[in-house]
Amino acid sequence: MLKTYAYQDLDAQAIQALVNRNTDPNHAIQDSVLQIIEEVKQHGDVALKSFAQKFDKVELEQLYLDAAEIEALANSISRDQMRALEIAFQNIYKFHQTQVRRERTVETMPGVSCWRELRPIEKVGLYIPGGSAVLPSTLLMLGIPARIAGCREIVVCSPPQNNGKINGFVAYCLKLLRIDKVYLVGGAQAVAAMAFGTESIPKVNKIFGPGNQFVTKAKSLIQGMTDVSIDMPAGPSEVLVIADESCTPAYVAADLLAQAEHGIDSQAVLVCTSASIAAEVNKELESQLAILPRKELAAKALKNSYTVIAKDLQEAMDFSNAYAPEHLIIESDQWKAMVNKVQHAGSVFLGHLTPESAGDYASGTNHTLPTSGYARSYSGVSVDSFVKKITFQHITEQGLEQIGSTVEILAELEGLHAHKNAVTIRKK
Ligand code: NAD
Repeated sequence: MLKTYAYQDLDAQAIQALVNRNTDPNHAIQDSVLQIIEEVKQHGDVALKSFAQKFDKVELEQLYLDAAEIEALANSISRDQMRALEIAFQNIYKFHQTQVRRERTVETMPGVSCWRELRPIEKVGLYIPGGSAVLPSTLLMLGIPARIAGCREIVVCSPPQNNGKINGFVAYCLKLLRIDKVYLVGGAQAVAAMAFGTESIPKVNKIFGPGNQFVTKAKSLIQGMTDVSIDMPAGPSEVLVIADESCTPAYVAADLLAQAEHGIDSQAVLVCTSASIAAEVNKELESQLAILPRKELAAKALKNSYTVIAKDLQEAMDFSNAYAPEHLIIESDQWKAMVNKVQHAGSVFLGHLTPESAGDYASGTNHTLPTSGYARSYSGVSVDSFVKKITFQHITEQGLEQIGSTVEILAELEGLHAHKNAVTIRKK
């Protein structure tokens, strides 16, 4: 079912072609996103309402829901569902809370003290996907670190559903996060609205959140157009599963399908240590796919997916590091020995009983992660993403004596005499 390649037959160029995820080769997405951004810049709310009609097929009179509407929607879900969201909330909170650490002051020379302090980013915009599937879990993954960081204003945008509202699960997460407004805007237009501001939607300092190719492209484009930054390029989701003889093929297939059902642009890659594992996983894929409600989507995603057969776990890890997956699952008894070998990945799931779904929803780690090879240089979202780290320093008389002549010499050799004088004048 999955296309299969033998690692030994792949040269550097073939590996590069396999790991390349350029999803917009002829810039069609970029062109349409640029047009959407321009429309929002020029026509604000009017453009947002017209895009809601065009893409989400709803007529909106007002672009947001207020606290009372959120409360009513939140109350429509069952007790069990509320409880599951609360447990996820607590675990994600517990894991992220440990990321706030006070750094110690460093005396680099006697009397020269340097330190860093955290300050929250004031206004943050959270994009919660809601096209092919609504993802309340994403609201927890972004809202919790934003709350822990202490961001003053949290703007949430999510595409309107057919009834012109958001679903009850997103509403319940808004309640848990004490956020009392949600904007009914999706896609590139939501990113543009938060980047430039419209009559209804406030401009923010930084935009967060995953989304489809339109959302991801808009995030990367607005960076060059405004003073607004983004968390990372978190586009169509992907998983790479490393499996050896100790794996259970049914679990491997289940993990590949969990990724494939996200959308047709998702990618699920299997790297295994024998052709017989690949054959067994393929058999499982067929039988498990047949009974999935989202089987059409998943089947299309599997067409973009493939298997690589490696000679051993080291070779499998070499391929994984070349791919730099958003999610890496290591289904091997040898998982402990593999941890140090992971060089590039967004989030890693170890052993036979650790499905990616646990991290997607509730174990505590964040699911907003770099895709398309950006795991080579970006980390997933954390509390760090919502703060700035400001450096401070204080110099005493003794410190100025210690460091003064060094600064004077360096300023002089760069020809910056005013810099030198700012020290000399204090020494007198
Ligand atoms: P989405 O909310 O990202 O996109 C829906 C919006 O896309 C619509 O409201 C519409 O405005 C816009 N759109 C649809 N068709 C368009 C077109 N032809 N032109 C312009 N705009 C158009 O929801 P989705 O589509 O379900 O995608 C969610 C994505 O998020 C998936 O690709 C999933 O893999 C990804 N995801 C990534 C991560 C991560 O951490 N990287 C986590 C969760 C989800």
